Amino acid sequence: MRILIVEDETTLANTLARCLREEGYAADIAYDGEEGVAFAETVIYDLIILDLMLPRLDGMEVIRRLRNERIQAPVLMLTARDTVADKVRGLDAGADDYLTKPFALAELLARVRALLRRESENKSTVLQVGDLTMDTVSRQVRRGEKEINLTNKEYALLEYLMRNPNRVLNRTQIAEHVWDYDFSGMSNIVDVYIRYLRRKIDDNFEPKLLYTIRGSGYSLREPSAD
Ligand code: CA
Repeated sequence: MRILIVEDETTLANTLARCLREEGYAADIAYDGEEGVAFAETVIYDLIILDLMLPRLDGMEVIRRLRNERIQAPVLMLTARDTVADKVRGLDAGADDYLTKPFALAELLARVRALLRRESENKSTVLQVGDLTMDTVSRQVRRGEKEINLTNKEYALLEYLMRNPNRVLNRTQIAEHVWDYDFSGMSNIVDVYIRYLRRKIDDNFEPKLLYTIRGSGYSLREPSAD
């Protein structure tokens, strides 16, 4: 899942990005409102964390522009002032949730998970494809009874696949949702990580769940779906 942080306080923005990356999310930072809009127009984000008080374009105007352009990513608004009027204006402009500064990182992460869950077809905290399960709160992954240990990136990749089961996802889609702009590595990164993941979730199990669709990409499929 890829998250955009629009926040002009550098220290807070960097802390949020680091904390989200540690949880396996891809995270980009825009330091003012105009940059935030430009980023959101370029990449399909799964979630946007948006500060209200921003240089160049304030958060309220950012939300309005995004919604006018039919950019539907859920928006978690950050506000320094704990006034009802601010919250109401933000929610009415199209924000989905808000947090008042200062906030605990644990609460921010819980709200991020809740918003992503709301967007997902699967509202449960546990994702399942076949006998493969992912608990998105405890971050435990299992096939049947067997626990599977994944690195952060493998987990992020698997989460994206599990949120889009039975769909063919091309490499660009996968890369855009799992890696962020800070990434400057191999061009075949998706294939490499699919290989790591397949080794852990499929190699010693039947039936196979992770399919390579030649010329198109990859698909995580329910054993019954065809
Ligand atoms: Ca600010």
